Amino acid sequence: MYKSCNLIQHGLCFFNDTLTSCCFSPVDKVDGQVPPMIKFNYWGEIIPVKELFMRMDKYADIFKAGGCPRECQNCYKIEEKDWPEERYIDQITITHFSMCNADCIYCSNNYEKWERTPKTYDILPVLNYFKEQGIIRKGCEIHIGGGEFTIYHECNEILELFAINNYARVFVPTNAIKYSHCLFRAMDKATTYIIISLDSGTRKTYKKIKRVDAFNQVMESLEKYAATQKSRDAIRLKYILVPTYNDNIAEFKKFLGIAKKFGITNLIIDIDERYLHLKRYNADGYYINLAKKMNDIAIEQNFITEFYCFYNQSTNNKQFKEDNFIIRFFKAIKYRYFDKKLRELYRNHRYAPK
Ligand code: SF4
Ligand code: SF4
Repeated sequence: MYKSCNLIQHGLCFFNDTLTSCCFSPVDKVDGQVPPMIKFNYWGEIIPVKELFMRMDKYADIFKAGGCPRECQNCYKIEEKDWPEERYIDQITITHFSMCNADCIYCSNNYEKWERTPKTYDILPVLNYFKEQGIIRKGCEIHIGGGEFTIYHECNEILELFAINNYARVFVPTNAIKYSHCLFRAMDKATTYIIISLDSGTRKTYKKIKRVDAFNQVMESLEKYAATQKSRDAIRLKYILVPTYNDNIAEFKKFLGIAKKFGITNLIIDIDERYLHLKRYNADGYYINLAKKMNDIAIEQNFITEFYCFYNQSTNNKQFKEDNFIIRFFKAIKYRYFDKKLRELYRNHRYAPK
């Protein structure tokens, strides 16, 4: 038994010029992110399996020896347990593309050091190779990041390879401007989950935040994505609170009206990461209370809610803290990090693994 992290042991994250273990490092939260590096200057080339695990072991061995790599210091995903000797991959993040058909004011491709660029590589050859070599475990998680997946040229093949043939669970953020029937098929198989950040209840507010006039297209896609019970359950509709743009209950109620119209029950309440960053992860009480109020209204109307960036929030609001416990719970499932209390809750949760 020793301390390590599932992503160090079994994770791959494809950026557009590097291959890493995970997509972030908590060490340089403010000054830049330096995740554990498997290969610098990586552009989709096939890495032989033996070499891949040798590179991954550079970090795994530090944990095994009782240490902690600099990149992982203080990371909440570190846990103590019996780590299997067997080498395999069970979580892959695909974030090596950044083009998008929207231009959200909060998009990290706009304000962080990652620039939006058409320069990328084909990822299918390397994924196919790892799958054929039997190192990608059945039932693994694939997380999509980067730009807009439905306009990425290998979108359909990736969904065919992992989701439609029931090999992995795929998590896709999409703006839903372009409807993808392949994505719908994967959702209807209950192997793929999508998050759509609508952030508004009206075309006017949508346009201000997403900076494209595509509200009506999104409504059309939503109707198609929500066509079956399974596909509806696979949707999480998100409201990112953007200070001064949509921070009012009237807009949120219209957002709820849209969710209701399409029978979507899973919601996410979030806040603009740029604002939190600016506030050193200490949002004004106004936004805490607003998020809490929104949550109450949604729950009264029988929606299921989660918070996202508020996870990092420190606050004296007792109720919010309790709600945050639920957030920790969701995060725990996502990152497989549990404390004792969370374990108890975990057993009954709808996202519990089969
Ligand atoms: S411990 Fe944290 S930083 Fe290190 S690989 Fe795991 S998730 Fe990434
Ligand atoms: S939809 Fe996503 S990738 Fe596209 S601009 Fe908005 S946040 Fe960025």
